[in-house]
Amino acid sequence: MQNVIVIDHPVVQTKLAELRDFTADHRKFRALLNEIASLMVYEVTRDWPTTDKPIQTPLERMVGKVLARRVTLVPILRAGLGMADGVLRLLPDARLGHLGVYRDEKTLEPVSYYQKLPPDIAQTEVVLIDPMLATGGSGSAAVTLLKKAGATNLRFVCLVAAPEGIQALHAQHPEVPIYCAAIDRQLNEKGYIVPGLGDAGDRLYGTK
Ligand code: URA
Repeated sequence: MQNVIVIDHPVVQTKLAELRDFTADHRKFRALLNEIASLMVYEVTRDWPTTDKPIQTPLERMVGKVLARRVTLVPILRAGLGMADGVLRLLPDARLGHLGVYRDEKTLEPVSYYQKLPPDIAQTEVVLIDPMLATGGSGSAAVTLLKKAGATNLRFVCLVAAPEGIQALHAQHPEVPIYCAAIDRQLNEKGYIVPGLGDAGDRLYGTK
């Protein structure tokens, strides 16, 4: 699949297996989700440009490297919030935007209900996060909203993707790279990813 990066690192895969297990309670689920998000940051940011920065070590002057652009992290509410702390652990200077997009349970269509983004988003690296890329409806809608707000350097990070979701997101936004830890078999008739991990929001917040 073009422009899809599966992070198959053994540590990520081990934690993903633990997370999928239905016996993981919300405390364990929350911790694992953040840990995986932290680990994924290495791959997601691998090709970001850097600029030279002169620095003085205790011994001599040298030129170090720093990220060229500021970072905007945008979780899709609500499950995306479950990855935010993990990403911020490695990118503590990132600003946090919020997008509220939910999926209408009958039509499975995305409905946007909240948006708060930094005004200079166009100049930043934008990382959109949501654990599940299922139908691709919310993800696609979120990317469209971010582009309207000016975002250009944009990547989508999820944990588990369905082939249908990848196809739908790339039908609208083929240039947006999708990073995930797994591509699962398919969606079921209720729009859940199988084998998947269930409802990420409910498992994260203990609401079911
Ligand atoms: N959202 C989830 O949380 N899980 C799925 O399987 C699909 C969408």
